[in-house]
Amino acid sequence: MHALRRGPRAPRCGAARTVWRIRDGFAVGIPVELRYVFPMKANAPPAPSADWCLFLDVDGTLIEFCDSPSPTNRDDALNRLLDRVWRALDGRLALISGRTIDNLDRLFAPRRFAAAGLHGLERRNASGVRQRLEVDADALDGARAAMRRFVMRHPQALVEDKGIAVALHYRSAPHLEPAARECLADVAAGLGDPFHVQEGNMVMELKSSRSTKATAIAAFLEEPPFRGHTPVFVGDDLTDLDGFRVVDRRGGMSIAVGGRVRARWHIADPRAVRAWLEQVAALGEPR
Ligand SMILES: [Mg+2]
Repeated sequence: MHALRRGPRAPRCGAARTVWRIRDGFAVGIPVELRYVFPMKANAPPAPSADWCLFLDVDGTLIEFCDSPSPTNRDDALNRLLDRVWRALDGRLALISGRTIDNLDRLFAPRRFAAAGLHGLERRNASGVRQRLEVDADALDGARAAMRRFVMRHPQALVEDKGIAVALHYRSAPHLEPAARECLADVAAGLGDPFHVQEGNMVMELKSSRSTKATAIAAFLEEPPFRGHTPVFVGDDLTDLDGFRVVDRRGGMSIAVGGRVRARWHIADPRAVRAWLEQVAALGEPR
């Protein structure tokens, strides 16, 4: 057995949360917190398997990021494709989104897929049973007021009130990011641990910290038709990182779309995601 050597390119990192891997004869330490922002080798995902259960983020993954938050313009070609994927996987398809489930239903009507909305704060399982985390929506009143004051000072920003979560968008004015972060940090500090700031692509959202996309995916995996199948999660943003970790830990596949976040596998953009989903859909169709 050859001795392990520390590679010259091994990253310097704290010992508390470091994963050590053997690569090319070197022991390479990877800080757990940085696994998804390190320049890891990103590969095209392998050929689809009929064993998979599939979890799909929506914005930036299935549809292109656009100027307005949560648009509900239906795309019939996408809807037909998702129907075919749903059939190919015997119903093992769930949407995992920051939108509300009602908004997802408008976007994908008439299909009502299993779904997690509001980054996991609400969930509808494959049987149609819907759960919503009990959150004191009134506790967010102060946050709403602070965000509206922010918009009065910066009219290019936009508040999206989702009831039990509130988002501050600045997609038409990216330079507002530091000011938006400061505003949300102040509000979150006043609310304490029950709430946290979920950052996304030109949006910061104040939500309960008790549910995330990860808790939603883990809950789906305890239920039919998902239980016992290989989980695959496709997402594009910071809010998807927890979900990537869940499927990786369970022997599944994390797939990042675009260049904003990293995962074990990579797809270039929503158009390429659709091409890949065509392969999944083909699993259930005669050749
Ligand atoms: Mg997304």
